[in-house]
Amino acid sequence: MVDIREYSEFLEHGNLQNLIDTLKDQGYRCIGPVTKDGAIVYEDVDNVAQLPFGIHDVQQPGSYRLEEYDNRVNTNNVNTGRYFAWANGPQNLKPLLFLPREKIWSASKNADGSLGFEAAPASAKPTAVLGVRACDAAALDLLDKHYLQPDNPDPLYQQRRKNLLLVGVNCTRPAATCFCVSTGDGPQVRKGVDIVLSELDNGFLVKALSDTGRAIVDQLPVQEAASTQWDQAIAELEQAADQQQRKVPLRNLHTYLMAKLEHPRWSDVASRCLSCGNCTSVCPTCFCHNQVEETALDGSRTDHYRQWDSCFSKGHSYIHGIVIREETVPRYRQWLTHKFGTWHVQYGRSGCVGCGRCITWCPVGIDVTEELAALTSGVVSA
Ligand code: SF4
Ligand code: SF4
Repeated sequence: MVDIREYSEFLEHGNLQNLIDTLKDQGYRCIGPVTKDGAIVYEDVDNVAQLPFGIHDVQQPGSYRLEEYDNRVNTNNVNTGRYFAWANGPQNLKPLLFLPREKIWSASKNADGSLGFEAAPASAKPTAVLGVRACDAAALDLLDKHYLQPDNPDPLYQQRRKNLLLVGVNCTRPAATCFCVSTGDGPQVRKGVDIVLSELDNGFLVKALSDTGRAIVDQLPVQEAASTQWDQAIAELEQAADQQQRKVPLRNLHTYLMAKLEHPRWSDVASRCLSCGNCTSVCPTCFCHNQVEETALDGSRTDHYRQWDSCFSKGHSYIHGIVIREETVPRYRQWLTHKFGTWHVQYGRSGCVGCGRCITWCPVGIDVTEELAALTSGVVSA
């Protein structure tokens, strides 16, 4: 864990543009948080004026809205509003690496009638993401475990991952739906990014975590950080952790969930669940997909696509003419037992990083922490 006192540099708010300019000068496409359609999402940014300065989010199960807060002005008449006083919106890093839909190969007939295969080119523009939160950095580590398995890395994911630079920002204002403290993933960005920032009223404490990050920070007009700034950042992080009310009963629920496959709560939650798949779309770690062919009418060529799928779709459990999970009960059970149970067997930890998105963006407000508490009640004390 990086101690806040190791954040030895300070970048004033007024110099944040230098960070964006430096990234762009080095050839990076720069992506950052912007407000769009009533939410904070990631888009291309060129200018700090695009960032959500003075914006807060208000999140509850099934509910999300933004509000402006009164930007404070201190005694020196300096505006002390913040750029990152919000918790994650619906987007995460997943769509940048594991695209919602992409061609992975094509096949066509050669002149001699044989089949020729062509892999989709694995090229990616260097991309920098500004404002990565601790939960999403942890989620990326999980996606890496899946897509970069040493004996079979995914070439499209691998290329994009290699060209990704991440600027993390510690969370000081978690949403009511966040529970990253209980999963052990936040609110401080501990690893997995190149540069990490901790925002204070007038600027950012800065720490480079990689050589690439160091080379960027070296070009910024930073000052030496002061101990009062460290104290402030530590106090704000502690407060952010204390604010989180939701939690998982236990980090490893594998044994408990697998012993509860016939629990009546599955029917209860299935009676509320719409099987819409919103939860899996917004989840930064869900990696399920299906594969489809788009074939030319004359049969001369076919393009093979990979596209996101979900435990909640009927087609996802279609095997040899049978849909194995026809009803919502086994679909929800599949999702929850994999995410919080069998993921431990596959990847050595839970598949949940406590981002809370599945709670906020579930149209009927199903709260995964409540479901887990009900399923493990009497077995695990929360
Ligand atoms: S299961 Fe829910 S809270 Fe956990 S990482 Fe996925 S979206 Fe976030
Ligand atoms: S839990 Fe909520 S978001 Fe997920 S499939 Fe059911 S209704 Fe949709």
